[in-house]
Amino acid sequence: MKKLLPFFTLLVFSSTSWSQTRVQKDVKPDSYYKQKLTDEQYRVTRQHDTERAFAGKYWDNKSTGVYTCICCDLDLFESNTKFNSGTGWPSYSTYIGNHVEKSTDRSFGMMRDEVHCARCNAHLGHVFDDGPNPTGLRYCINSASLNFKLK
Ligand SMILES: [Zn+2]
Repeated sequence: MKKLLPFFTLLVFSSTSWSQTRVQKDVKPDSYYKQKLTDEQYRVTRQHDTERAFAGKYWDNKSTGVYTCICCDLDLFESNTKFNSGTGWPSYSTYIGNHVEKSTDRSFGMMRDEVHCARCNAHLGHVFDDGPNPTGLRYCINSASLNFKLK
């Protein structure tokens, strides 16, 4: 019985779902992103800037595929959740799995919900509650934070 104890301990730990429901954080030093990204991508993802409306790469992209994080390649949004919001920024009604996290942004005298990549903390955009059904949410995302992979 004594010999079996380590085995049982292992079993208990591996059967907890905690590791499956959370994305492991992996945030690199600033110098890494500065080298990897363009100036605009860096300003948006690491310094919470916002690109100009109708100026980004993906606001009018209607192809089928997956939008990934420009910093760490994590899958973030499916093209079938993208909708035409008329804002000039790529807009989605929801995100993939638990790959996007939310925090409160108090800059510019407003209270907004900022959204970022769950793995590398890249700033993506903001979420508003005027989106279409079924979620009623509008994830307003900078093209500069995204890469697109055709399916
Ligand atoms: Zn990321």
